[in-house]
Amino acid sequence: MKIPWNRVKIVATAGPASNNYETLKAMICSGLDIVRINFSHGKISEYKKTISLVRRIEKELARPIGILADMPGPKLRVRGLPGGNPINAKNNALLTITSKKITAQNEFNISHPVIIKALVPGALIFISDGKIRIKVLKAGKRSALCKVVAGGEIKQGAGLNFPDIDLPIPSVTSDDYGNIRFCAEHSVDFIGLSFVKDARDVKRVKAFIGGFKHKPFIISKIERRFAIDNLKGIIEATDGVMVARGDLGVEMPIERISNLQKEIIRRCNAAGKPVITATQMLESMIDNPSPTRAEVSDVANAIFDGTDAIMLSGETAIGKYPVDSVVMMEKIAVQVEKKYDFDVQSRASGKRDITDIISQSVADIALDYSVKAIVIPTLTGKTARVVSRHRPSAMIIALASGRDVQRQLTLSWGVYPVLSAKQHPSVVMNTVSRFIKTSKLFNKGDKVIIAAGTIDKGGELSNIIKIAQV
Ligand code: PEP
Repeated sequence: MKIPWNRVKIVATAGPASNNYETLKAMICSGLDIVRINFSHGKISEYKKTISLVRRIEKELARPIGILADMPGPKLRVRGLPGGNPINAKNNALLTITSKKITAQNEFNISHPVIIKALVPGALIFISDGKIRIKVLKAGKRSALCKVVAGGEIKQGAGLNFPDIDLPIPSVTSDDYGNIRFCAEHSVDFIGLSFVKDARDVKRVKAFIGGFKHKPFIISKIERRFAIDNLKGIIEATDGVMVARGDLGVEMPIERISNLQKEIIRRCNAAGKPVITATQMLESMIDNPSPTRAEVSDVANAIFDGTDAIMLSGETAIGKYPVDSVVMMEKIAVQVEKKYDFDVQSRASGKRDITDIISQSVADIALDYSVKAIVIPTLTGKTARVVSRHRPSAMIIALASGRDVQRQLTLSWGVYPVLSAKQHPSVVMNTVSRFIKTSKLFNKGDKVIIAAGTIDKGGELSNIIKIAQV
């Protein structure tokens, strides 16, 4: 039987090119694990449509599909250009950012005027993804005088980045909170938080989510210099991370992207937190049926770096070849696995508690003893994630006690999440035996590791590793 399972997970963004039953189903059948809804674009009615389509297809295929809702965060934009006409900003020209009414051709407003008072001389401001750069010369409470460092046409609504400024606005806006409520009420599995600055941003949203019955996982998008500075705390506080290379490549020198990607992935692996590598992975497939050689290498290298998931954005949201893009990612992943050094990859560093020691042993035994699968009954998904962190060669079958846990495990490398009955530790081994006998995944003679928490007859709780042959 062909199991619909990838070690590395594929995330794809729904959009006008793919937000219909046929395309979503074709993408899912081609290996898609998680559908991303970008809340920066679209309307609530469209988000609802995607969610119900995904749940319908999930039911038809009897396979869990994760849904990731990506919050926009604060949108920093150029405003107030007289008549909406662009400013033709020449190198060394002077411009003024102001919260006052515009009175001259070289002035503009911004969407969050409170930022102006945080500006300091020397700070760089990037416009239109960093294509235009201006430097603050003089800053007051309501206006800042700036010099154009790299010129261009500044258009109404152009995006702004302030990489040097600790912005005096919350990373999670009131609109985001409204959308997070919607997600908690509509079975969304993951919430992407844009422009996270530090662990406090994550903890605030976690506290908010704590008030709902269904608790989506938080995926903190690393896309600001301040997030890099506060990476340790963010990884501790969050459920998962996204290397959001689009904005990260604007806020940080672009030549550092590769090193930063490796560092973020390494730290997430060490902490056992799933990590997605995102943006421009197969960008040229927006218009072309096949990718560039460099893009193929980029996807492969992210997998070698240890990413849990690879993500498609414009390729599937607005591109001409959404299904082919998923097929291509799947093909690259299959090739990488042939060269993946499970022994080396599994040596995740970091602090080792008893669960880590056991899970590392599980990975070692799986490799040395040619084990087909590691079966893990799990109440919260934690044990499966901890084992996944060691990148074992064998498939990790997580017997999840609930639908939410099962769907949240769609993001973890190597995990095949199966819905199972609630398991009391005293009967957990019966649940596993029943699964192995009835799942049709195993042939006679297959070796299996069972990693579980059990309670023996004396009431003693222990972690066990059992090696069995079917
Ligand atoms: C990114 O910046 O890389 C990203 C994934 O975020 P967005 O698509 O919201 O720009």
